[in-house]
Amino acid sequence: MAEPIIAVDHVSFAYEEDGPLAVRDVSLQVEKGSFHAILGQNGSGKSTLAKLINGLYLPTEGTVTVCGMDTKADENTWEIRRRAGMVFQNPDNQLVATVVREDVAFGLENIGIPTEEMPARIEKALTDVGMLKHADKAPHLLSGGQKQRVAIAGVLAMEPEAIIFDESTAMLDPKGRRDVLKAVQRLNKEQGITVLWITHFMEEAVVCDQVHVMHRGQIVMNGTPREIFSDVERIKPYRLDAPPMARLAAQLRAQGMPLKEGILTVDEMAEEVKRLCK
Ligand code: ADP
Ligand code: MG
Repeated sequence: MAEPIIAVDHVSFAYEEDGPLAVRDVSLQVEKGSFHAILGQNGSGKSTLAKLINGLYLPTEGTVTVCGMDTKADENTWEIRRRAGMVFQNPDNQLVATVVREDVAFGLENIGIPTEEMPARIEKALTDVGMLKHADKAPHLLSGGQKQRVAIAGVLAMEPEAIIFDESTAMLDPKGRRDVLKAVQRLNKEQGITVLWITHFMEEAVVCDQVHVMHRGQIVMNGTPREIFSDVERIKPYRLDAPPMARLAAQLRAQGMPLKEGILTVDEMAEEVKRLCK
């Protein structure tokens, strides 16, 4: 197995001493270069887990290591945040400057990158998310999806190994959502950036390597998207909907159509229907 970039080992966390556990005995490893998704309904503990990984919170019990560094050691905090960057839900809260280019520069200033190195890093990061042509625009003139891609560029410019996306498409329209997810898939495939994608949209989790389902602070299922979603009955208690094509397949099977297992996408459904109609 490839070395884990993120390793969460039996981690629990409570916001208040003796309060309820928001994260309960969670273990998880994200290997270098992989694309993992965390899926769960509201309040299941996803954001708390993300902040534990990023070192914003420290575990009440257990250990989180990022690139081999324990989040509990103060001296690791900044290096962890640089190497495992985070993109949040609301793009408006993440953009601070009046020009896109300056916004990307902001993080670089914070980590002390020399001024002469900045332009090249900024141009590369904006190119990687398809936003270079907007470099001199004011962020407030951009669409939600474009703003979110600028926020990603800000993280990318710091040359992270991993990026954690906490419901980063939740506030976007369908096109913005697609564009952001595509940009992130490209970063993963072409540059080997490790991705932890937190979402409650099932259809987004279909594209990843591994899915972890959270429910009431715990990880209740782990597997490939195919393993998780083809079991429509098993995910029901966690109030997640399987992708539409998996649900359609389950309904048709229940009515006696001999569709094969593991159908998740429109293309797979089309292939299977063609096969049956031959
Ligand atoms: P998710 O991101 O999956 O919606 P959260 O991690 O935000 O879930 O929340 C997990 C649990 O922790 C919930 O019960 C929530 O009410 C609680 N919680 C979240 N943030 C705080 C906070 N700042 N103080 C106290 N409790 C919190
Ligand atoms: Mg959340």
